[in-house]
Amino acid sequence: MGSTEGLTGPLADYECTAITTAPQIGQLNPPHRLLCGPGPGNAHPRVHAAMSLPEIGHLDPAFISMMEDIKRLLRYTWQTNNEFTIPVSGTGSAAMEACMANLVEPGDKVLIGVNGYFGLRLSDMASRYGGVVVQIKVPWGQVFSFEQIKAAIEEHKPTIVGLIHAETSTGAAQPLEGVGQLCHDHGALLVADCVTSISGVPCHLDKWGVDAAYAGTQKCLSCPPGVSPLTFSKRAMDKLMAREDKVKNWYLDMKMVASYLVGGKGATRSYHHTAPISMCYAIREALTIVAEEGLETRWARHREVAEAFWAGLAEIGLEPLVAKEHRLPSLTTVKVPEGIDPKVVTKVFLDKYQIEIGNGLGELAGKVWRIGLMGFNSRMDNVAVLLACFKDALA
Ligand code: PLP
Repeated sequence: MGSTEGLTGPLADYECTAITTAPQIGQLNPPHRLLCGPGPGNAHPRVHAAMSLPEIGHLDPAFISMMEDIKRLLRYTWQTNNEFTIPVSGTGSAAMEACMANLVEPGDKVLIGVNGYFGLRLSDMASRYGGVVVQIKVPWGQVFSFEQIKAAIEEHKPTIVGLIHAETSTGAAQPLEGVGQLCHDHGALLVADCVTSISGVPCHLDKWGVDAAYAGTQKCLSCPPGVSPLTFSKRAMDKLMAREDKVKNWYLDMKMVASYLVGGKGATRSYHHTAPISMCYAIREALTIVAEEGLETRWARHREVAEAFWAGLAEIGLEPLVAKEHRLPSLTTVKVPEGIDPKVVTKVFLDKYQIEIGNGLGELAGKVWRIGLMGFNSRMDNVAVLLACFKDALA
């Protein structure tokens, strides 16, 4: 027993106990699962191999050159020429929060499309940074029409418009064609959540006029979570650089991070935080695989595999929630039939077959399963296995 004598704060009430027994828990041995839920999906074996390579220092010229490769590959993957295109240290929510922390200034009106769980999260983040949030809504599983977005922009005159390109809670793909131009015509920036679309669903950020986009690595990139793609257009950077106040989040202050990961012409990189080296290896390898396959081929593969899955679902009497024209190839929400307990089914998948599928989230909890066929896992053999497991679990 230690002594608490002399302490006056909350610790004074506690006895200090030395931990004398070293836990003996053995070597880590996680189960081998096929991850076909909303994410993470299984990482590509080449990504795992890259993560086990020896570390280098984060200011080593070799690291800086690798960071340039990652930025170049990310620009290709997202079809953008934005100079500021980086892997943020942290999961998708960190890149999401980076958008709101840097682009929302106190009092800015932020129009957010809420058609699922992640629109709500984006609204929460915007309001925490002083944004005056206005939400437009359609039922979960549906998407916003161009006219609905236009009418809302004309009515509310926002500074920032936030839309979820791929709503992982519903499986809906929000069309973004023309939306950037619409925002710019009204003096607004367009922010897009591409967490479940990057590399699995066509993303043409420059063509669509997207000013800020964020993503995750654990979905169609087939890389474990830990770093997250983020890009800002010149318009977005101009808004950030014109800020007179400090960004209210030290870790995600992209002015400071830019001097670390981007630098200027000939400028040296200055330390901000220690980038997660092995995760940078991982995203570099994942993006290299995307480039080797080619975007068009990769998008077509995701679609072809999803189409086969949807056809197979129909054959066993199961129905996707989202209308086909707005359905994401990377993530399908499947309606739970009357009288079935969805959690019993997900448990059969996990316990009997070592397969993870997702339950519904938020408003759709208990109403749908969420099935991800993303990146490395977007394959016909997985379609066959999933359909067979559904048949068994529902028999
Ligand atoms: N946005 C969407 C659409 C997502 O699907 C997710 C995660 O699934 C996030 C944001 C947050 O990403 P993360 O869980 O990696 O922090």
